[in-house]
Amino acid sequence: MNKRVPIVIANWKLNGGIDLLCTSVAAFIGKHFSAKIAICPPYLYLRDMLNFLQHSEIMIGTQNVSKYESGAYTGETSAQMIKEAGGSLCLIGHSERRQMFHENDPSCKIKVTRVLNSGLMPVLCVGENLQQREAGITNDVLFRQLHDALDGLDLGDKRIAVAYEPVWAIGTGKAATPEEAQLVHEYIRSELTVLFGKERAESIHILYGGSVNKNNAYELLSQTDIDGLLVGGASLDPEHFMQICLHA
Ligand code: PEP
Repeated sequence: MNKRVPIVIANWKLNGGIDLLCTSVAAFIGKHFSAKIAICPPYLYLRDMLNFLQHSEIMIGTQNVSKYESGAYTGETSAQMIKEAGGSLCLIGHSERRQMFHENDPSCKIKVTRVLNSGLMPVLCVGENLQQREAGITNDVLFRQLHDALDGLDLGDKRIAVAYEPVWAIGTGKAATPEEAQLVHEYIRSELTVLFGKERAESIHILYGGSVNKNNAYELLSQTDIDGLLVGGASLDPEHFMQICLHA
């Protein structure tokens, strides 16, 4: 029986604008969910979104964060700024950042540390690509991603989450089956146990992401170690995303 309250996070990526912001706010405001819901719009919309949703239960997060605190780093946004703006969480190491923007495990570790120190929740994204899955090295890839980013971290009472996002499932319409995902989530929890001890590992949310929609959300979430969902494409349709949230 899964005792962790599910977290459902929308990742808008480089999509949306004022129209999506307004329709999402209209759809979500005043609604109550059993799960915790977060939306990660592009940075520019963070404040507007927070202002509109300030009396709602919806949390706002970002899709990335700078590994730097301040200084001559043109185009960057720090964890402290996100905190000051009212954000609650930051995605770190999304596969699109790793593939297209040279994000790697050491930079993820710095970002995780900065985000934790700012009092926000880091959501570390991990996952294997198709070639790695077919080569049977999924667990090796995850081992490295988890240990390189989290080894030696002193969590104290700070919160962290992990999102398992198999790269082959992102944006492809081909989600992992609930059973496939559960096996990997179980492995991730076993490594979190090595890193942080059993009690702490049991409290960490492990989210699944990759072609989640309203038809597969419930079955995914009914698995023991699937504690939430990270939703890309389907979150761009507020009514569809709402259905996912209501199932959670
Ligand atoms: C994502 O990119 O985080 C994601 C899960 O995308 P999608 O739901 O579109 O597969």
